[in-house]
Amino acid sequence: MNIRIEELTFEPMISYETIAQRTIEIGNTLAEKYKGNTPVFVGVLNGSFMFMADLVKQVPIPLHVAFMKLSSYHGGLATTRTITEDFNLKVDIQGRDVILVEDIVDTGNTLRYLVDKLKSLNPASITVCALLYKPDAMEHNIPELEYVGFEIENKFVVGYGLDYKELGRNYKDIYQLVK
Ligand code: 5GP
Repeated sequence: MNIRIEELTFEPMISYETIAQRTIEIGNTLAEKYKGNTPVFVGVLNGSFMFMADLVKQVPIPLHVAFMKLSSYHGGLATTRTITEDFNLKVDIQGRDVILVEDIVDTGNTLRYLVDKLKSLNPASITVCALLYKPDAMEHNIPELEYVGFEIENKFVVGYGLDYKELGRNYKDIYQLVK
């Protein structure tokens, strides 16, 4: 069923069941790779809160969870080049294996900024796990982007943590904008 947020209409794109299945696969891979290392999962708020919660449940090894808060979209449909840091990482990642958890990689500007910032804190390793990735919009080469839930077309999506004007984050499925 379509949903309406403010003046826009969105149609179903990826169901929660499909997301959950893919999250199990990624979780298993991460658990295998990082067992014995106590990695730090760093989520980027607000968008990644749902994915982070579901992902770490599928990684049954000792790990830490931390968050940073950034904004680059400022609630609209188009990305802005300015990244605002609302709050910073509170955990020391020096010498740790870091898994950066993102909701969506669009132009890659936010990810470029984050990876550079985290690298400057001298982690042992850094990898990126993004639920959604829009390859056609990507403007950077970021080899750390190793785990992707779904590659999608260059369309605006909401739900499962993702918003339009701060609304729609609570839907369990992902929806795409109907033009
Ligand atoms: P980038 O810096 O890669 O262009 O944009 C990354 C951020 O923009 C994401 O973390 C997310 O907050 C926002 N964003 C990018 N594409 C979409 C989209 O299709 N829907 C929503 N709701 N946010 C998006």
